[in-house]
Amino acid sequence: MTTKESKKTLQIPSAIVVHQLAQMMDVSAIELIKQLMRNGVMVTINQAIDYDTATRAAKDMGFEIKPLIESRGKRPGPLIVADETEEASQLVSRAPVVTILGHVDHGKTTILDAIRKSNVTATEVGGITQHIGAYQAEYNGQPITFLDTPGHEAFTAMRARGAQATDIAVLVVAADDGVMPQTIEAINHAKAAGVPIVVAINKMDKPGVDAERVKRQLAEQSLLIEEWGGDVICVSISAKEKTGIDDLLENILVVSEVAELKANPSRPAIGVVVEARLDKSKGPLVTALVQTGTLRVGDYLVVGDTRGRVKALINDKGRRIKQAGPSTPVEVLGLERLPASGDTLTVVPSEQISREMLTQRLKEVETRVSRALSLEDVASQIQAGEFEELNLIIKTDVHGSIDALQSSLERLSTEKTKIRFVHTGAGSITESDVLLATASRAVIIGFNTRPEPGAKHLAEQQRIDIRFYDIIYNAIDDVQKALQGLLQRPLQDVVEGHAEVRAVFSVGKGTKIAGSYVKDGRITRSSLVRVLRKGVVVFEGVVSSLKHFKDDVREMTAGYECGIGVQGFTNFQEGDIVEAHHTE
Ligand code: GDP
Repeated sequence: MTTKESKKTLQIPSAIVVHQLAQMMDVSAIELIKQLMRNGVMVTINQAIDYDTATRAAKDMGFEIKPLIESRGKRPGPLIVADETEEASQLVSRAPVVTILGHVDHGKTTILDAIRKSNVTATEVGGITQHIGAYQAEYNGQPITFLDTPGHEAFTAMRARGAQATDIAVLVVAADDGVMPQTIEAINHAKAAGVPIVVAINKMDKPGVDAERVKRQLAEQSLLIEEWGGDVICVSISAKEKTGIDDLLENILVVSEVAELKANPSRPAIGVVVEARLDKSKGPLVTALVQTGTLRVGDYLVVGDTRGRVKALINDKGRRIKQAGPSTPVEVLGLERLPASGDTLTVVPSEQISREMLTQRLKEVETRVSRALSLEDVASQIQAGEFEELNLIIKTDVHGSIDALQSSLERLSTEKTKIRFVHTGAGSITESDVLLATASRAVIIGFNTRPEPGAKHLAEQQRIDIRFYDIIYNAIDDVQKALQGLLQRPLQDVVEGHAEVRAVFSVGKGTKIAGSYVKDGRITRSSLVRVLRKGVVVFEGVVSSLKHFKDDVREMTAGYECGIGVQGFTNFQEGDIVEAHHTE
């Protein structure tokens, strides 16, 4: 390749086809393929490569890569669309995406209905809103997108799959009921996601209710509303009488403005699946939220672990549309299989690329699962100097134990390695706890409590570390060891192989050698051994000699005969099994 006098700067997207990258670099595709081969990547001219691979090859060929400009707002929390290089000038404001959280029966569904009925402009004739899992409302001419599945389980399930669909969380607290366990969960889930909260104190029409009491309870949960010197906006509403709804919408827009939510409508769409169902005649029906870019009929898609081509787009008013821009919820027809909610949707240039991206996606899914963290991982990362914050979820049998455990653990927090309590609560370990642990890479500590069956299954699947204790000291000890980099995986017994004793020989001074046949695995001179007789361990010790005929050997593998001596053991019988093992 020619040496470039002045290095050319490239902007590389999250995935790019080899010949397109070559074109961008103004080099022949062959040259680029050769460079990729030197980097250990075998590809053809029409294959898609990911950002890292492309960047490395381009750098090696003398190009500079322009730093990423994130298309997120200044506040933490908005959409994750930062995997793309984006020109700041192409970014335009987009509607906030709102999820309603709160305790059961506090009025989440009623609020969503009230907003839908009075603030969705049915501009088209017969424009009846249909439930597709999300809808867009309008206030003062400004759009707001609502996710129609209220509750923090759905919210965190999406995050656990790697997607954050929500910009703002509305926390509903019924004035008569006050802050309840799921209110606290919702607060913690929103905080863990870094999503700003707007509080709506609902059911203000009920006689004798006291909003001040709710505000005080919120303060106890470290959620400080403006009146209390914090920065959380709080509005009083009645979803039933539809009072205060405008105030709520107005304040959602205020928070949205502060967050400076932006997206680039002139790029291929990236989105997230909000809801997916199978229709007998139409096939998979998927409600997606476009996060950035514009989704069009005819686009090729990769969605979760499936792919397809957009046959039709239907908006939240049941109308067929040709395209959908950022923050628009839209029903998508044309996928091969049913994706899951929380799956990412990506538009790609061709069918072939969609197939290749799918392969890449599946790899990403694998790595995401292995992102789960155990306390032992924390210890080894701390040893390597790579760890800064330990996220914990604490569940205890009774409320009283939370404080004791939390304050003892808090003391272990240091400048270098902080402990963050993502969520604490009393009761069994639920699926929602496990999802939260997945989404925020947390370790769950269960004190005198057990997981619900579903949670146990999910934790195994997601490889979430749930640690059970019945003595506070042991929990503290483990976390302390982890933070000191000292915690090690419990020792595991690993069986190396089995040999069957077929003859017993005496060799001088009462030493006995077992003439044996290695049935499986291997026996080595450094093995620990158990002598088994009819499945019962009759002796445990170490190998003292290992011979193949007359020769000393280091190890014997399956299918060979050998003489085994075990230190301190002479009582071999034919038919005994010598089991070699070691601990890891
Ligand atoms: P969700 O479980 O949080 O979705 O709660 P719902 O929206 O289903 O509401 C639970 C109950 O509270 C229903 O019977 C509603 O009619 C009632 N409700 C909701 N909002 C209000 C309100 O502002 N005032 C009164 N009095 N009742 C309400």
